[in-house]
Amino acid sequence: MRLFDPNVPLTGKTTLLRLDLNVPINDQRTVTDSTRIDRAKAMVCALSKAGAKTLIISHFGRPKGQANPDYSLDFLPPFLSEAWGLSVHFMRDCIGTEVAQAVMDADDGAVILLENLRFYEGEEQNTAEFARQLSLNADMFVNDAFSASHRSHASIVGVPNHLPSFAGLQLQQEVHALETALSHPEKPLCAIVGGSKISTKLSLLHQLINKCDHLILGGGMANTFIAAQGHNLGASLVENDMLDEAQSIMSKAQQAGCTLHLPIDGQSSREFKVGATTQLCTPDTCPADQMILDIGTDSIAQLTHVIDQSKTLIWNGPLGVFEMPPFDRGTNALAKHVAQRVQSGQLIAIAGGGDTVAALNHAQVAQDLTYISTAGGAFLEWMEGKKLPGLAALS
Ligand code: AMP
Repeated sequence: MRLFDPNVPLTGKTTLLRLDLNVPINDQRTVTDSTRIDRAKAMVCALSKAGAKTLIISHFGRPKGQANPDYSLDFLPPFLSEAWGLSVHFMRDCIGTEVAQAVMDADDGAVILLENLRFYEGEEQNTAEFARQLSLNADMFVNDAFSASHRSHASIVGVPNHLPSFAGLQLQQEVHALETALSHPEKPLCAIVGGSKISTKLSLLHQLINKCDHLILGGGMANTFIAAQGHNLGASLVENDMLDEAQSIMSKAQQAGCTLHLPIDGQSSREFKVGATTQLCTPDTCPADQMILDIGTDSIAQLTHVIDQSKTLIWNGPLGVFEMPPFDRGTNALAKHVAQRVQSGQLIAIAGGGDTVAALNHAQVAQDLTYISTAGGAFLEWMEGKKLPGLAALS
């Protein structure tokens, strides 16, 4: 990968900067979580300081190749300007002569946000023509969108065919963190995989059992493993068509020398709602009309001990229905323990994937882990051992 170097002067050059500004917004089009904007600050400021004119490109939502005002990025410049401390202009297109004119008129160091890439079919279809048109207005390309780098879209893999291309600062940091966790981890390496279903995380589980010393399973997916051992879990979520797969993962883990840790108790309830009455149960004592929605107190103690034995931790997926207290207790307790170990220098902890970030924010420890990846699909594909096309395109 060719790395962007912030010390190279770029006066007179125009940089096409791919970011992931697909940020969550509310009905008033106000940004509700600015993590992606905040993380892009270093890269944008470095380009501006180096004297480059910067054209920012991003996707936003799924307008399906058509211009659609509901998916315009026009609401973003005030949020970007405030977060980055510089003024950000907006262009109602991402290709064409008006963009070319805006580049000519811009001062060195100017930052211009271009319209949603997905207003053109060529973006997702990865047409050579769209990639060429995007490239026309720039002298170089920087990809600082790790979270979109698992997609073979024109702005990710096509543009590098036309322009000298570099890995952005945020992307470099993300790759470094993931390599630290998976490629050269300090051993013992432990992974926590939670969430609702095994079926969506099969390749991840297969990859992790070959790399990890310990694999902690929690959330709904642990139920399927426990059921595969012959236990009765009442009305809990169990993927009955995955029982053989769960068996096969357990035996492969044993052959690979990876110790699987399943919850030994759980919090069950009749109701799937905030504030529901709960009952502590073991796998065989879950009442027929109740669901296990969180790990129990003995499991928390046991899993805390496993974390204490580990030097590196990879975390994907909550251990219970963390969105609905009191079923957030298990995830909160382990998250706080992990944060404490990281802060005292005894653990490197990398977490990622959609709900994981929300769960760690909910536990108020997101700042305390070694690295949190906001990339959902790209994080998982990296962890599954796949080569991300966007990174390959920078090589
Ligand atoms: P995933 O998208 O597969 O990572 O799953 C995340 C979701 O799993 C969260 O919304 C949790 O509420 C849910 N979840 C966690 N534990 C359980 C459980 N024991 N039963 C049902 N859903 C769960």
